[in-house]
Amino acid sequence: MKVLTRRVFFKYMAMLGLVTWSTTPLYAKVPKDTFKYQETPNDGKRCLNCVYFLPQTNECKMVEGSISPDGWCRIFQEKK
Ligand code: SF4
Repeated sequence: MKVLTRRVFFKYMAMLGLVTWSTTPLYAKVPKDTFKYQETPNDGKRCLNCVYFLPQTNECKMVEGSISPDGWCRIFQEKK
């Protein structure tokens, strides 16, 4: 049985920390209620035109759950 030296152990822990840090989003999604998400547009503004919308999966980078392209919430940011 191979004994793990202290140096190797800390090297593995550092690598594990780096992998965890690099694969964890810098922000967590929030529930729909937080930003008053609604299934309908607001004054012509809709998720389809928002920078946070992910059309391939009907998801949002900021809000949890399935998001309608016609939805809207308070942090809407129009694509330029
Ligand atoms: S309007 Fe809100 S829910 Fe819709 S894509 Fe933008 S941030 Fe997400």
